[in-house]
Amino acid sequence: MERLKTPYYLIDERKLLRNLKIIKRVRKTSGAKCILALKCFSTWSVFGLMKKYMDGTTSSGVYEARLGYEKFGKEVHAYSVGFSRQDIREVCKFADKIIFNSPSQLKAFSDEVRGMNVGIRVNPGFSYSHFDLADPARRYSRLGVRDVNILHRISGLINGMMFHFNCENNDFRNFSKNLDRIGRVYGDLLKKLEWVSLGGGLFFTKPEYPVTAFCRKLKDFSGKYGVQVYLEPGESTITDSAELVTTVLDVVHNETDIAIVDASTEAHMLDHLIYRTTARVVSPGPGQDKFIIAGRSCLAGDVFGQYSLKTKLKPGSVIRFGDAAGYTMVKKNWFNGMPMPSICVKRLDGTLETVRSFGYKDYIASLS
Ligand SMILES: *Cc1c(COP(=O)(O)O)cnc(C)c1O
Repeated sequence: MERLKTPYYLIDERKLLRNLKIIKRVRKTSGAKCILALKCFSTWSVFGLMKKYMDGTTSSGVYEARLGYEKFGKEVHAYSVGFSRQDIREVCKFADKIIFNSPSQLKAFSDEVRGMNVGIRVNPGFSYSHFDLADPARRYSRLGVRDVNILHRISGLINGMMFHFNCENNDFRNFSKNLDRIGRVYGDLLKKLEWVSLGGGLFFTKPEYPVTAFCRKLKDFSGKYGVQVYLEPGESTITDSAELVTTVLDVVHNETDIAIVDASTEAHMLDHLIYRTTARVVSPGPGQDKFIIAGRSCLAGDVFGQYSLKTKLKPGSVIRFGDAAGYTMVKKNWFNGMPMPSICVKRLDGTLETVRSFGYKDYIASLS
């Protein structure tokens, strides 16, 4: 494996399968349908495996909807914070359901979507998120309809509603309580509709999550209001299934030892920069040698984190960062003209495949 040229993202299908099996169990036991949120993970080389365990995809715009249709198949949900008329005409070719963000968009495009299955996003006014930046119920949030009276007025024009109000929520009791709140406030509306999507952000594939209770909760909710429940897992689908593998190029010293790797937070693991979080080092394991590991972009704050490792890092040392599947490959960019990590997949049978590598031609083609 070390023979591959770094940097590269490595997706391990066996690890992915662990999550997918939990998803399958949830679908079977609860009756909820699970569709992949493509904005989190769009690496279609592993869709062949994923589609056997999921019901389809959901998207944030036309290109993702098309990707879901072409590469994943099954059910395609198309949502966007703002559709243009051109977008709607495009998306109608691919989507089974179109979800509008506002009553004004619903009305503006009612002629285009006549006869289609249509939904609207709701902002219930509460949420679970560790970060204001990712909090859909933050003050002045533009994500979804806040006013229940408006929802009642337009209920004849829609088939379903979408609530996306969680982010990295591993607290089942919190989810359960909030689902009850949704039932109390929106139950009358739900009874008139066919489906409800509870969005993503639920960490039900994490080891300690009470999956049985979760399934029962979803099933009861679906039965009580007579709606098909959808979940839109992103992160929980692919959590813990990929690494970013890098090589140390240099070690410099400024009060502490700083190892510089052949990748960058800004270009290859951007969310750590945005949310000011630290990347998890899977290898080398923990120990006594203290290092800051930093990227090779010219950004002063391009830092993966500060670690105590069992190996003294030197040029040539390989560092593997975990949690490299979600919100990484979909956000990679050409900042500093840095070589882009290739994408490798370890298939279920153990064979290793480099499914995409990038070169100067790709860089130059991304601009003009
Ligand atoms: C981001 C998003 C998801 C997926 O969220 P995860 O936290 O990755 O599970 C699902 N639905 C909508 C509407 C989203 O915006």
